Amino acid sequence: MKKVVKFGGSSLASAAQFKKVGDIIRSDEARRYVVPSAPGKRFADDTKVTDMLYDCYHTAVAGRPFHEKLKKIEERYQEIIEGLGLSLCLDEQFAVIEEQFAAGAGDDYAASRGEYLNGIVMAEYLGYEFVDAAEVIFFDEQGTFLAEETDRALRERLSDMERVVVPGFYGAKLDGTVKTFSRGGSDVTGSIVAKAVDADLYENWTDVSGFLVTDPRIVENPEVISTITYKELRELSYMGATVLHEDAIFPLRKAGIPINIRNTNKPQDRGTLIVESTCTKPNYTITGIAGKKGFASIHIEKDMMNAEVGFVRKVLQVFEDNGLSIEHVPSGIDTMTVYVNQRDFQEKEQNIIAGLHRTVAPDTIELESDLALIAVVGRGMRQNRGTAGRIFSALAHAHINVKMIDQGSSELNIIVGVEERDFEAAIRAVYDIFISYQI
Ligand code: ASP
Repeated sequence: MKKVVKFGGSSLASAAQFKKVGDIIRSDEARRYVVPSAPGKRFADDTKVTDMLYDCYHTAVAGRPFHEKLKKIEERYQEIIEGLGLSLCLDEQFAVIEEQFAAGAGDDYAASRGEYLNGIVMAEYLGYEFVDAAEVIFFDEQGTFLAEETDRALRERLSDMERVVVPGFYGAKLDGTVKTFSRGGSDVTGSIVAKAVDADLYENWTDVSGFLVTDPRIVENPEVISTITYKELRELSYMGATVLHEDAIFPLRKAGIPINIRNTNKPQDRGTLIVESTCTKPNYTITGIAGKKGFASIHIEKDMMNAEVGFVRKVLQVFEDNGLSIEHVPSGIDTMTVYVNQRDFQEKEQNIIAGLHRTVAPDTIELESDLALIAVVGRGMRQNRGTAGRIFSALAHAHINVKMIDQGSSELNIIVGVEERDFEAAIRAVYDIFISYQI
């Protein structure tokens, strides 16, 4: 059994957190590959080391003295090293970083040092070998991740290593320049390593006990999702639910390696298991509820629209010509409505309206703003009759006016459009009908 374990910034923010991580790793022989983030926040107002590094580097680039800022970063590591009782000294590494900052080594180089240094500390603490991610994770000239080259290099490098630490978040272009993934990218490194070593499981350790059915800022203490499929996860993350970096899914999905989201502060919790497919019955009909505010709708009416060949295409073309991506297009016989991101739309509003008049000569165009979309997602829906009915009766009881309904053909989700002011109440109503009243 082989497991890759990735630990997020809050799991590694202090020596005390490092010790919890050490206990977790040592308690399971299979936890052979470790991917650390940079030290995160120790308390609410604290600053992540990654952000300290960006700030320090920008000071250096602006030609201002940056030594004090670098010193503060060094202190964060020193505190961890001393707290763990290690005799490790990072003077040499910090001298190189200082030199590179002064020479303008780039934002990505700067940010990556958080994980690089934490990887060195982690390897020392665990007695594992250290592999610099810049030697095994590759990007092309444009900064696009090179999946095949990376997989080959990682496989070869790790094949005869028993226990190893690979820092998260970065790799290098083929000319050696350090390049990072986008923020939160250590999740992606964990996936890439899991694929390369053919892991049985990728454990992603963070500070929550898995994916929650819905946003805890809206519903108090929501249930944790015990098992979720990649498809369900994609639907929920598209609508704003975040725990895992989106790009972390692709490498593993193809390889069929499950991801287990776990809580470093509550290792006894089983967390959420993310799988390609499962015959495990979901606990509830729905798996999760997520949503986003900030949509506008463009409602187009024209008599005999249904008989006009190419009408929909021409409408969509106007949006495409203006570089605007479309969220949903519910339609009637002589009407169609296009849902778009309000902020993007506002910039192009008049061009689009003029374009629509020009190309399809509608009878009327009505605009509505401040709308929210809510996705109710669940693989259990297909088997259960009446899911839509329950959603809409719950919304009606909560006096919420439904502006739009869209059920995906996969029967994996139902999207409901409501006014922004009803957003929270709508989510609570759907949560209650499927979860609270079922417990
Ligand atoms: N340290 C990086 C960040 O703050 C990457 C990560 O934590 O995954 O975004």
